[in-house]
Amino acid sequence: MSIFAAPTDAPRRDLSSKLNSKVLAMPPSGIRRFFELVIGMDDVISLGVGEPDFATPRCIRDKAIKDIEAGRTTYTSNYGLMELREGLSDWLQRTYDISYDPASEILITVGASEGLDVALRAIVNPGDEVIVLQPCYVSYGPAVELAGGVPVLFPTFQKDGFRANLEELQKAVTPRTKAIMVNYPNNPAGNTFDREDLEQLAEFVKKNDLLIISDEIYAELTYDKKHVALSSLPGMKDYVILVSGFSKSHAMTGWRLGYTCAPPEITAAMVKIHQYTILCAPTLSQYAAIEALKHCDDAVSGMREEYQKRRDLIVQGFNNLGLKTLVPEGAFYAFADISGTGMSSEDFCMRLLAEHKVAVVPGTAFGACGEGFIRASYASSLERIELALDKMEIYLAT
Ligand code: PMP
Repeated sequence: MSIFAAPTDAPRRDLSSKLNSKVLAMPPSGIRRFFELVIGMDDVISLGVGEPDFATPRCIRDKAIKDIEAGRTTYTSNYGLMELREGLSDWLQRTYDISYDPASEILITVGASEGLDVALRAIVNPGDEVIVLQPCYVSYGPAVELAGGVPVLFPTFQKDGFRANLEELQKAVTPRTKAIMVNYPNNPAGNTFDREDLEQLAEFVKKNDLLIISDEIYAELTYDKKHVALSSLPGMKDYVILVSGFSKSHAMTGWRLGYTCAPPEITAAMVKIHQYTILCAPTLSQYAAIEALKHCDDAVSGMREEYQKRRDLIVQGFNNLGLKTLVPEGAFYAFADISGTGMSSEDFCMRLLAEHKVAVVPGTAFGACGEGFIRASYASSLERIELALDKMEIYLAT
């Protein structure tokens, strides 16, 4: 036995009083909690995780191998490689008709996750309120709290296509409101915002003199129509912090590469936080992203077409089973109404997992207004989706 190994029966020090009370009080993510149960179970058909089931396109992987061989392993500028920021600036202009200065308005981050974090920490003063449209990605509320702010959770509903009722939203605005957080195409609801929705939102934000953190990470996975960037609307650039990344569009979750686009003052503030905590996003991933922007349009559209086939299968399947599901306009999630079963979201998912080994996520993981819903990710093969639907048919019949 190593002389450094502690005796197993040594009493442990109680460290809870040493922890940050905000962190201590924070519940674990509803998705993680659920997937603790899945780990360790054999043969589970998981429609749970929110990540592409494709490997990163071959050309990106090949380029990264060459970059390793070439020893591209040092730090980059805090903002990220200029070549990547320039490439991104061109790509954003071409794709979404938005112009961002690569020198002062773009920051390369460790996934969209870091983008959301630095955006909030750059603008929130203690006690500032940030309105979070729900259902939403699990990190939003906790990220606001960790930034010292107060999340104001604002529900949206299936009957409204998960769009915010602006009259109600107005009531949520107080003198302490600093910003609104939105995500479209939406995780978990799958809806997106059209130009008209965005125009109304833009007017609202201007009228109330707010900022808006716009998480558009699923923009490239928009079906049947073209994504409209909020900051492309006239006069909106000074109101928007755009957060996005390569995780979903280019199947690059593990590369941890995202970006923010924002006015120079806000970008400079975000860079301060980023330089003291992160230094720079992973260098090899930045080189890989340059390749992704140059040579991957076909790979991205190929994945999008595949997701669309899966979407059609799962949405029809759920609706046939009597679980009302709106057709997702983007992302890769179907958000199905299970309230007719009389079960809570949590019970529905627990029993489905225990009795039929199919994993989906309770809607409540995305906010209280997700009660009565489940989220199923269709970033899974057509065969597995069909199998899951067959098992759910048996489950619902019994
Ligand atoms: N925003 C949304 C809406 C997401 O669904 C996710 C990932 N599930 C993220 C941000 C985080 O993305 P990244 O991997 O780039 O950090």
